Amino acid sequence: MMIPNTNGPIFIMKEGTERNQGRAAQSNNIAAAKAVADAIRTTLGPKGMDKMLVDEGGDVIITNDGATILREMDIEHPAAKMIIEVAKTQEQECYDGTTTAVILAGELLKKSEELIEQNIHPTVICSAFRKCGDQIQTTLDDLTMSDINYLDIAKTALTGKSAGSIKTFLGQICVDIVSALDNNSRTTQLKGSVDLDLVNLVKAVGGEVQDSEMYGGIILPKERCHSGMPHRVNTPNILITNSPIEVKTTEMDASIQITDPNQITAFLEQEEKQIKDIVNLIVSKGINVVVCQKEIDDLAKHYFAKVNILAIEKVKKSDIDALSLSTGAKILTNLDDLNDDDSNYDLGQCHGAIEEKKVGEMPMIFFDDPVCGAVTLLLRGGTAPFVEEIERAFEDAVGVVAVAWADNTIVTGGGSTFLALSGALHKLSKENSSGRERMAIEAFADALEIVPRTLIENAGLDPVDEMASLRNIHHNKKATEEYNPSHYGVNVEGGVMDMAEAGICEPRRVVEQAIKSAIETATMILRIDDVISSRKAGPQ
Ligand code: ADP
Ligand code: MG
Repeated sequence: MMIPNTNGPIFIMKEGTERNQGRAAQSNNIAAAKAVADAIRTTLGPKGMDKMLVDEGGDVIITNDGATILREMDIEHPAAKMIIEVAKTQEQECYDGTTTAVILAGELLKKSEELIEQNIHPTVICSAFRKCGDQIQTTLDDLTMSDINYLDIAKTALTGKSAGSIKTFLGQICVDIVSALDNNSRTTQLKGSVDLDLVNLVKAVGGEVQDSEMYGGIILPKERCHSGMPHRVNTPNILITNSPIEVKTTEMDASIQITDPNQITAFLEQEEKQIKDIVNLIVSKGINVVVCQKEIDDLAKHYFAKVNILAIEKVKKSDIDALSLSTGAKILTNLDDLNDDDSNYDLGQCHGAIEEKKVGEMPMIFFDDPVCGAVTLLLRGGTAPFVEEIERAFEDAVGVVAVAWADNTIVTGGGSTFLALSGALHKLSKENSSGRERMAIEAFADALEIVPRTLIENAGLDPVDEMASLRNIHHNKKATEEYNPSHYGVNVEGGVMDMAEAGICEPRRVVEQAIKSAIETATMILRIDDVISSRKAGPQ
């Protein structure tokens, strides 16, 4: 960078630093953000298309889930990366609505670009957008309903994923899971009612989706580590450890000189005794189930089998954590703690039996416990990519049901709420705003139409006709007791209709957050007028 000076130019940055300024920087950023939005536009809604993502190693994901597509896309451009952040926030806060948030951000930027071309300053646009945000909150208060059919909420979230045809089945499981959590959850996260950390998912390829089942308790996709161990333990007393069960080796590199064959025997006996001691200690505490995150020594397995202990090794950390939460067992790091008085360790309990059973061809260990609070969905399906896509759909749907359960507020879907909000903004633009601000508010109002329009386009319906009929209802029709024009949206299965009657509804939080993050990102990108390549953060 060069500053003119009477004594010659002054360079404040290294020569060759990349810099992109003013309108060029703005339109470059906007173009990148729009490109991301365009890339996922065709996936929105029940009739949205899928994307096939292929990584360098040739692994394939087929999905319709906006957050997944954006996470897997190898994106470089900084403004495009900001758009991906929108999707992440949306997923964290609401589990659903990621595609909507990104498409809306893209459309807000597209409309802003047109305004900038008409010489409206980005600052004016940003402040008008914020005003729109406030108006949207107020209007949402009027649109919100609290008469909730949770199965409809789950089904609305499930449509569009490959799960389409089995949505009633999976939707009901989502509702069952959330209500089971609410009835007996131990810890609370989501507004005091449901903690989704207690939901576990185990996938088993083979069979039909309709063979999927919900269990109270935990299922480990593992088998007992020795065939002599019992298949079933009726009154379990569970030890959970993240340390290996093996002979302790010294940290130092030591070599032992053996001069007499008897010494070998003595040495091996010593090792064997160590293992025996550990097993005896475990037995003496009345433990009959051992769950180990690491490996269990072969000899220990043999002794465990001899004393009828069911042991499982190499259990995933996330499963260990879930099991600790549901059984109340403290994860033991040092087996020596078992020698201390009982205060230093807690064994886990399970209200039902622990049993190894086959699911299809796969052995799994069931920790049956209807009252512990944790639930597991055993998800079945024909092929691995299919089961994975169902998993993503299920995660959205169970999250959405939990959000609706916690907040107790929903709005109508199928683009209806976006049209109603658009109408409210058109009204706002006519009240006390200056010419430029008015143009920006109108642009926002138009941008909101992207949601119904995209749903219509993706369903292969005629966007001109359907949008005209929707606008007519929203802008010209008066509400009566039986007729609420603001509930009108497009049902991709049947055209323009009342979404509340069609049961197409979603949590208010999903819509509210999608709009909020779209505004935040669009305004952040609009305010940038200089892109300078900076030094890498961290130590030089
Ligand atoms: P997102 O990632 O934003 O959740 P989806 O692909 O899941 O994107 O699509 C969600 C949108 O689809 C919502 O606007 C929802 O109202 C709408 N939708 C769901 N079911 C229907 C339906 N039967 N007809 C029309 N729109 C629907
Ligand atoms: Mg969705």
